Amino acid sequence: MTEYRLLINGEMTPGDTTMEVVNPATEEKIADCPRSSEAQLNLAVESAKAAFPGWSKTAIEERKAVILKIADIIEANSSELAQLLTEEQGKPLEAATTEVFGMAAFCRYFTSLDLPVEVLEDSEGRKVESHRNPLGVVGAIVPWNFPLMLMAFKLPPALIAGNTIVLKPAPTTPLSSLRFAELIKDVVPAGVVNFVTDANDLGAALTAHPDVRKVSFTGSTATGAKVMAGAAGLLKRITLELGGNDAGIVLNDVDPKEAAPKLFDSAFQNTGQVCIAMKRLYVHEDIYDEMCAELATIADETPIGNGLDQGTKLGPLNNKMQYERVKELIEEAKQDGNIIAGGDVSDEPGYFIRPTIVRDIKEGSRLVDEEQFGPVLPVMSFSNEEEAVERANATSWGLGGSVWSANLDKAYELAEQMDAGTVWINKHLELDPSIPFGGSKQSGLGTELGEEGLEEFTQRKIINMAKA
Ligand code: NAD
Repeated sequence: MTEYRLLINGEMTPGDTTMEVVNPATEEKIADCPRSSEAQLNLAVESAKAAFPGWSKTAIEERKAVILKIADIIEANSSELAQLLTEEQGKPLEAATTEVFGMAAFCRYFTSLDLPVEVLEDSEGRKVESHRNPLGVVGAIVPWNFPLMLMAFKLPPALIAGNTIVLKPAPTTPLSSLRFAELIKDVVPAGVVNFVTDANDLGAALTAHPDVRKVSFTGSTATGAKVMAGAAGLLKRITLELGGNDAGIVLNDVDPKEAAPKLFDSAFQNTGQVCIAMKRLYVHEDIYDEMCAELATIADETPIGNGLDQGTKLGPLNNKMQYERVKELIEEAKQDGNIIAGGDVSDEPGYFIRPTIVRDIKEGSRLVDEEQFGPVLPVMSFSNEEEAVERANATSWGLGGSVWSANLDKAYELAEQMDAGTVWINKHLELDPSIPFGGSKQSGLGTELGEEGLEEFTQRKIINMAKA
């Protein structure tokens, strides 16, 4: 079995204890993973703090060169990282490979940005400049659905801006992150990047640590609220990318046969474990029956299995807790609606749930009102568009949403009315590193990606100089 280590102060370090990481497709142990103690977390923060003065004074070009080297390393080791990601996360190898290359592409994107000094005014009486300075030590907390990709929202911009970082992957998916740490350790100065792990017990300590100046968190809304509370005492900067309950609205001019595969993919990619997956679908009553039937056919035909097996389109849920939760939601949905595909769970090992389509279900059912984060989609009908938008917006989340129609003007008008951080038209679930990403309402705070995604790792400083 491969040995994994933490990265603290430039050294690969054993954990004070270990914890098991399990392959969700087989429920078999993959590795004894190092588990950090709180003392090790403190050492990681200390080393990041010690590395900050030196790193923050390097030229931004030098820091970008390091990120480019990291991108090269990711690509050169893509097969190994993808295999490991599939083993610990469950996703098909092809999707894991896409994630690994996506991570490298996101690194490269951030190296195309700069943080120039802006001259706001240069008049007779004064010169006013805006500078973007690094903050210090960043604590970065990542969930288990896209362990590598979501790290790439944080590590490259944090470092390019001149910060140092302590990263904490989720307890069920630490291995690809630790292997990544080992691969890059010699291209970053000691202490600039640190990796610790936990069994869901160190996030609060990292958040509240007095030497952590900013917390960049991706995870559930409930944990995000704890991060916000933990950061409040010292008024730390926070970026929160949280849960969602994205609605898709399909108008009656859409061809169900043509749209169904796209809608299916929007909801079921990564076995539904995507923050911006389509989690509720509203279909106009004129095409409701046909759309439900198309979606059910695709669901029935989709091969699920071990992500390492060729031909697997959807892997297992990542962990037992999520598996049990989704099963529970399906059981309740059986009372509240009609299951027309999936719905049954086999006794075989692995956290597998077949893609499940539920029709004739309404708001008030947990499957509609809560974030399922799994392969089960409630499909509801509506009779007028305003009503559909109202229902789509009637949630405390606001991450994404989409409108599907042949009439782009109409779709645009409805998109304007949807309360979400991103609204797509005739697609869903598209992310690009150059496009700012963030949630409204309880889906988050702040922005990742794009220029703003870099600026969030800085403190704006004004220099206002009198001229004689
Ligand atoms: P989670 O909130 O349970 O865990 C996320 C991370 O927070 C893990 O690393 C966990 O160890 C850590 N954590 C646990 N308790 C903590 C605490 N008290 N303080 C600080 N950190 C703590 O989320 P999850 O179940 O791993 O991930 C699924 C959730 O993440 C879903 O709600 C999904 O929508 C959301 N998500 C959001 C985005 C986005 O960009 N908006 C992207 C991916 C996932």
